Amino acid sequence: MLDEIKEMYQEMGIRKSVLDFGQDALSGLKERFEKIDEIAEYNQLKVIHAMQKNRVNESCFKFASGYGYSDYGRDTLEKVYADVFHTESALVRPQITCGTHALSLALSANLRPGDELLSPVGKPYDTLEEVIGIRPSCGSLAEYGITYSQVELFPDGSFDYENIRKAINDRTKIVTIQRSKGYQTRPSFSVKQIGELISFVKGIKPDVICMVDNCYGEFVETIEPSDVGADMVVGSLIKNPGGGLAPIGGYIAGREDLIDACGYRLTSPGLGKEVGASLGVMQTFFQGLFLAPTVTAGALKGAIFAANIYERLGFGVIPNGSESRHDIIQAVEFGVPEGVIAFCKGIQAAAPVDSYVTPEPWAMPGYDSDVIMAAGAFVQGSSIELSADGPIKPPYAVYFQGGLTWQHAKLGILMSLEYLVREGIVTL
Ligand SMILES: *Cc1c(COP(=O)(O)O)cnc(C)c1O
Repeated sequence: MLDEIKEMYQEMGIRKSVLDFGQDALSGLKERFEKIDEIAEYNQLKVIHAMQKNRVNESCFKFASGYGYSDYGRDTLEKVYADVFHTESALVRPQITCGTHALSLALSANLRPGDELLSPVGKPYDTLEEVIGIRPSCGSLAEYGITYSQVELFPDGSFDYENIRKAINDRTKIVTIQRSKGYQTRPSFSVKQIGELISFVKGIKPDVICMVDNCYGEFVETIEPSDVGADMVVGSLIKNPGGGLAPIGGYIAGREDLIDACGYRLTSPGLGKEVGASLGVMQTFFQGLFLAPTVTAGALKGAIFAANIYERLGFGVIPNGSESRHDIIQAVEFGVPEGVIAFCKGIQAAAPVDSYVTPEPWAMPGYDSDVIMAAGAFVQGSSIELSADGPIKPPYAVYFQGGLTWQHAKLGILMSLEYLVREGIVTL
């Protein structure tokens, strides 16, 4: 390592022993990082290829106003997404406000009263509980007479095929599969595993719609769930596919009839995808997608680096330091609240924005314990940017993700360790 780099780390508050510990952990990761770069290379080509095929040009960055008829950039971007995900169609809009909205839209557009939604992979992401009506909520699917059933995973995270078979009935219309573990301790699924599950489900009921919540999973592998039979893949643009540049948005890519239904639900019956001005964000959507493969690779390297550091220090890490990766989330169990707090303070202190503020645990709405969150992001709530949060309850785990560059992720993780050392929670 260049002396200038060492000096700079020290000037920014990272002591030598922390830096040395980090470099030591890093020395064993060369081959894995090469593999990640290879996946990024493939995905970079995939994205550029799709942009070339659809003749992306300067006029794509201009935009319509008002109703947004013939918003050329918007329509071209949707073709690019459809080609990246190898689907017939896509809906990619700033009017889709977040990942939860995209998922809610995909479900409500394609379910009708009397239909049933099935999750064969246990409990969905927290915010989906209110969308579905697992927790009673105004406007939920349950209020519209759509029922829900769920099959738990086996304790090792594998699929309970026997009970999935039993749960599929003549009212089952959509099967929802969440790729990432989110903030649970189950493993995230590989695209291959998702493909096996979809084949099984379609073997029982061929016309069932398989939807995959793809949040945090995009570009982690060379294939996406839509390559293995998913009828719709859904995600947020302030996660992986926005590449850190998209300031808002969500996408749904999939079968044309299903995407058309999403368009009619997002805007209005009769109008559908034809309206919805893109109001100047298209350049960030295109450029963000262009950067997304390498941004995702940087975030993955950060996650693997952290897993290796904290595993060496004896903390529980999920996934562990050597497992294969299917999303960009890393969990570290500290066992004590002070560990979670020090970690988050370090991540915050390493941020390009708001580095001088100190995160504190607080009673956030929707959570059953205090939660601490660290984020110094250019885009509010963006979790493709380096961010961390942890509920202040056993096992005192912190979940972190993102990093627009590997170098920033590295700094953040070293700073988290620096804070743990400062607080006396770790001695090197
Ligand atoms: C982030 C996330 C969501 C919800 O996305 P928001 O943009 O926060 O609404 C849904 N599912 C999974 C797995 C996620 O990671």
